[in-house]
Amino acid sequence: MSARAWIGLGANLGDARETIEHALKALREIPGIESLTVAPLYGSDPVDAQGPTFVNTVAQMHTTLAPLPLLDALQSIEQTYGRERPYHHAPRTLDLDLLLYEGVTLMTPRLTLPHPRMHERAFVLRPLMDLTPDLLLTQGNLQALLARCSDQKLWPLSR
Ligand code: ADP
Ligand code: MG
Repeated sequence: MSARAWIGLGANLGDARETIEHALKALREIPGIESLTVAPLYGSDPVDAQGPTFVNTVAQMHTTLAPLPLLDALQSIEQTYGRERPYHHAPRTLDLDLLLYEGVTLMTPRLTLPHPRMHERAFVLRPLMDLTPDLLLTQGNLQALLARCSDQKLWPLSR
């Protein structure tokens, strides 16, 4: 049994693009994560965070891991890339968010699904639309939600 899940990746310190590529490679090596497909990379200005511009993308997978073990795996990849959080919303080298896990809604201190802020972030919605244009969130379809984020600057990066 495997479920579809979507992950948001963001990096904004050091060589952000290289960090994203390393994280994708690490994801592919995790037992229980299968057939990872990755959207194009985008550059974005920080929304809730400070610091330089971000590199963002979204990956879709099939996974046999339950949501919490999947989050454990994501957090261990974040740790590997030396994430430092001296204060809330501080710049970070790598942020991996579990956006959606097919068939699961959850509200616990450690994990909220779907991710509570994904519907208002262009850097999530745009790559998500590249992967799964027909995806419907509780808040609406991706195109309509993206139209509401037109004030957020986002630009395609060549890979
Ligand atoms: P941001 O919301 O900017 O990604 P952080 O990555 O610092 O902020 O938040 C990390 C915390 O959010 C972790 O402690 C994690 O347990 C919690 N969390 C809750 N829901 C999720 C989710 N869907 N994906 C990732 N982390 C989540
Ligand atoms: Mg996060």
